[in-house]
Amino acid sequence: MAGNWKMFKNPAETSAFFEKFLPQVASATHCEIVLCPPAINIPAAVAATAGSRVGVGAQNLYWKNEGAFTGEISGPMIKAAGAEWVIIGHSERRQFFGETDATVLERTKAALAAGLKPIVCVGEMLAEREAGETEAVLTQQFDGGLAGLTPEQFAQIVIAYEPVWAIGTGKTATPEMAADAHRIIRARVEAKFGGNTAASVRILYGGSVKPDNVKGLMAQPEIDGALVGGASLEPSSFASIVNF
Ligand code: PEP
Repeated sequence: MAGNWKMFKNPAETSAFFEKFLPQVASATHCEIVLCPPAINIPAAVAATAGSRVGVGAQNLYWKNEGAFTGEISGPMIKAAGAEWVIIGHSERRQFFGETDATVLERTKAALAAGLKPIVCVGEMLAEREAGETEAVLTQQFDGGLAGLTPEQFAQIVIAYEPVWAIGTGKTATPEMAADAHRIIRARVEAKFGGNTAASVRILYGGSVKPDNVKGLMAQPEIDGALVGGASLEPSSFASIVNF
């Protein structure tokens, strides 16, 4: 269960969140729990979660380790700050910051080289779904962004299926729609990396997951977890999603 805070909260608000959140998930051992705050809040999140089962992630990274790349942060920097995870290829990065399948692949390799666990996002836009192109889009994103990994690299990643039309809109994919998309992705994984890998890769669903719809989504065997945006900002809300 992963939370993406996007560009919300400062360091003091980060510490305050965990003070309320950690006691509410103290007995949750059925899943991994990860929060991805803005990078500036990673030290506060790492300090607040020390000794707990909650992991911390970044929301993006650049694929070079260091250099003249103003405004960027690298995998080794994220790792040194104490985070273990990183979201890659979020649709907001694709829509607003020029992320492509090729750069998703570069970032994923860089994250793995730095010892981070990537959560790689894929998903179709509304127009693509309405045009019946969901499978083609997911296939293209998988082939361009993930199929270039070695089997050893691929075994370490988590995929998040996030239909763009469901992100921040309050429109959730029905559990059946989400499961269908997960099956498409898993079939690509099987074709490229084999049945064992397809069975073991974790595929999260993301897009307006809330305390009142998480149960139905998680009832689908195809759905291994959730990547949660808005509803991860409030401690009780994210805790009840984790404790679905
Ligand atoms: C996200 O940011 O990854 C996301 C799924 O957002 P929301 O839950 O707010 O739709």
